[in-house]
Amino acid sequence: MDLKQYVTIVENWPKEGIRFKDITTIMDNGPAYKYAVDEIVKYAREVGAEVIVGPEARGFIIGCPVAYALEVGFAPVRKPGKLPREVISADYGLEYGKDTLTMHKDAIKKGQKVLIVDDLLATGGTVEATVNLIQQLGGEVVGAAFMIELTYLDGRDKLKGIDIRTLISY
Ligand code: 5GP
Repeated sequence: MDLKQYVTIVENWPKEGIRFKDITTIMDNGPAYKYAVDEIVKYAREVGAEVIVGPEARGFIIGCPVAYALEVGFAPVRKPGKLPREVISADYGLEYGKDTLTMHKDAIKKGQKVLIVDDLLATGGTVEATVNLIQQLGGEVVGAAFMIELTYLDGRDKLKGIDIRTLISY
């Protein structure tokens, strides 16, 4: 399936000069959404994922159905103040801004094989911070899967040594 045809490019959003890749037009198409999830499920099986980790909020949209299909757990990565129990944190720089990400301290077991899932790889800052969180908890990052990769932002450079699978590139 040519998944790219279901992505909508929104010019100058959320800021002037940004060409935002809107994935809601993948999600609202049943076969396209299923195809995207199924492709990442296949990859998750290849790398032997034992738990899926996804950053808020669009990482949940892809990561949760992947976890459900594999019958493994899903651990959310969230902005500060959102998770109710004891958290660990990591700072990161975004394509447009700076922030901190957190995870529950008991979300990953030591040595667990973790697959990171998000909608889009841009500068790689979000995933770099997510890798940091997983490693703080002793998890093994076995891969990172994205629906979309913006290759011109060189996000892969921040993720050296991590296996990456993407479905669409710009
Ligand atoms: P990075 O940290 O790699 O620079 O940015 C990736 C994060 O920002 C992802 O969590 C993603 O949801 C969000 N993001 C940045 N640009 C876009 C975009 O054009 N479209 C979508 N859907 N998400 C984006």
